[in-house]
Amino acid sequence: MPKVIEGVYFIPGQDEMIPDSHTYVVGNPSSKDLSLIDPGLTGKGNYKIESIKKMGIELSDIKRVIMTHTHFDHIGCLSEIKKKIQDAELWIHTLEANPLEKGDERTVYGMGMFQKMCQMQYGIKPGAFTFQIDRKLQGGETLEIGGMNWEVIHIPGHSLGSIALYYKPQKTLIPGDVIYADYAIGRYDLYGANGAELKKSLMRLAKQDIEILLPGHNPIVTKLQSNYVLQTVKQWEAYLE
Ligand SMILES: [Zn+2]
Ligand SMILES: [Zn+2]
Repeated sequence: MPKVIEGVYFIPGQDEMIPDSHTYVVGNPSSKDLSLIDPGLTGKGNYKIESIKKMGIELSDIKRVIMTHTHFDHIGCLSEIKKKIQDAELWIHTLEANPLEKGDERTVYGMGMFQKMCQMQYGIKPGAFTFQIDRKLQGGETLEIGGMNWEVIHIPGHSLGSIALYYKPQKTLIPGDVIYADYAIGRYDLYGANGAELKKSLMRLAKQDIEILLPGHNPIVTKLQSNYVLQTVKQWEAYLE
């Protein structure tokens, strides 16, 4: 199901030993002002680019990459994507943008052991994830992109600079790895993560009217039951201290 609703396209992640995040393309194609959300795992750039082309989307219409957060499984193929879409800007929450500009990769890998594993598996050198960020997001702003208005909600807890993108007219939420289908939530044991913050972020999301849930992994949901986020919080709150 590549097209979820008008102006929202879905490219499923292709998990390997390490998961590959889903990629979304948002914006009305006629606007020629599209945004790619979360590139994915190292090595998946070609797959994502070919999938975009198959949907009939012109690469030159993609004007920016927006990251829900910068974990390895989301940012891994960013440089592959940037090679193919050279003029695309990069928009990331300021709390993860600033470290990336300095070459601080603690958020990218989350933990030292994982860093060594990824660097060995993919032959990645230290400093590979140093990027200049074109726009640093704060949370609370409304992005007028692709003929749609997307609200940015800062939802730390899984990582410091996690954001959700929310499109109110179609009750559509792109929450990165903060909440998934089947009452699952993102892990909160990595660098910069925090269970109590995650709970607060989930409560922030619970205030929104959400019908379509487009997470970073696992199934997407197009008919979410009401109060889904709140019920998910209830299942987890004893652990989120
Ligand atoms: Zn992820
Ligand atoms: Zn993550």
